[in-house]
Amino acid sequence: MKIEFLGATREVTGSKHLITTKKGLKILLDCGMYQGKGLETDSMNRDLGFDPKEIDYLILSHAHIDHSGLIPYIYKLGFNGIVVCTPATRDLCAIMLADAGRIQESDTHTFNKKRQNQGLPPVDPIYTEADAQACMGCFISVPYHKKFNIEGEVTVEFFDAGHILGSACVYLEIKDGRRTVKVGFTGDVGRYDKRILKDPEPFPQVDYLIMESTYGDRLHTTLDNAEQELLMAVLDTCTKKKGKLIIPSFAIGRAQEIIYALDRLRHKGLLPDIDVFVDSPLSVNATNIMRLHPECFNEEITEYMQNENDPFGFDRLQYIQSVEASKALNVRHKTCIIISASGMMEAGRVKHHLANNIDNPKTTILCVGYCEPTTLGAKIMRGDKTVSIFGRPYEVRAEKRTIESYSGHGDYEELLRYISCQEKRSLKKIFIVHGEANAQDHFKETLNKKGYKRVEVAEFRQCVEI
Ligand SMILES: [Zn+2]
Repeated sequence: MKIEFLGATREVTGSKHLITTKKGLKILLDCGMYQGKGLETDSMNRDLGFDPKEIDYLILSHAHIDHSGLIPYIYKLGFNGIVVCTPATRDLCAIMLADAGRIQESDTHTFNKKRQNQGLPPVDPIYTEADAQACMGCFISVPYHKKFNIEGEVTVEFFDAGHILGSACVYLEIKDGRRTVKVGFTGDVGRYDKRILKDPEPFPQVDYLIMESTYGDRLHTTLDNAEQELLMAVLDTCTKKKGKLIIPSFAIGRAQEIIYALDRLRHKGLLPDIDVFVDSPLSVNATNIMRLHPECFNEEITEYMQNENDPFGFDRLQYIQSVEASKALNVRHKTCIIISASGMMEAGRVKHHLANNIDNPKTTILCVGYCEPTTLGAKIMRGDKTVSIFGRPYEVRAEKRTIESYSGHGDYEELLRYISCQEKRSLKKIFIVHGEANAQDHFKETLNKKGYKRVEVAEFRQCVEI
């Protein structure tokens, strides 16, 4: 039996690992897209390292595009197997993959205009919205803690990873002649003591563990002060300055955390009478899906919902779908809060809000997530005086604030806490994936110091016999 590491090796996107059993069954763990490297990513994404027609099952840890984003592509290339994931992951994939398909089509359209000017022939998008819709027919969903059997040879079970709605650690028992090999794949691991989702939960003892390491070299601040910091940003911007508070946010997870925090503040009577707009169609759809999956909620929000049946809605909150309603916010001068995607400010409607308000000192831009260094968000937050939006220069006169404690990934102490359910001596090997090189090296050292002796950083297209 072998495992091949086909992506998210020494980097944080493109998650893909292929298990081939002795009998020849091919099980792919995740099928993620590479993101954030400009034109380079397109060729990296098209070169899979396996034949999609040969894949029997795809076990998906969670819906983020860097884990699921190439499912429509392999479907287009002839994948005819079954995608297995939790019910919430399936529902999120339905909206996220369609959205990714639309982005591929629109990016390719823009790219082809440039090619036409250079006298070059057009290229096809890696996949379309229609491909994304069609591939959903391959999905079946399996709830947490229910065993799913694959051809009498492999058993799959999901354990809550507490990272985003539906996220799972994948536990596999694989028959190999007389022995049974147990393999764990953490997917992405969330933080503990969050507001909405449950904590990452323990999983059964494994022989081999494929483990993420995004924050393998970092410690986060606690979430305790986040709500207070959010309230201060609201009061300073909306009550004192009478300006607009713009909160660029990832559409899935982060947006709902902010909405829930505002809901709690409103409920406690601390949030003044200010209009709050969620202006991102994907955030609106994701919030609706979140409402459908209370089985993923922790005790705190479940208790809150006994008095407040909708934790993602209050009297002054409006969800905006249409382009017209979104545009109407541009000419609105009254103070308000606008939550809009994308979190890194590179795409989506938030760019329009920034273009319209960034040169106004009454505006506050509140960053609640990570911005990759080349993105517009990173340029604004690091203090560039002028930035380019839609090809035009804009002076940055808006106030900038950051709340760092919102993070979807656990830090290295949380990762250690997560694997404390494992008996060290029984672990034959930990393979570290999904992290930048520095984070991975640091995490490997930390694991060694803590007594996990057999640890290896997986290399791109490395194939190991297990
Ligand atoms: Zn993720």
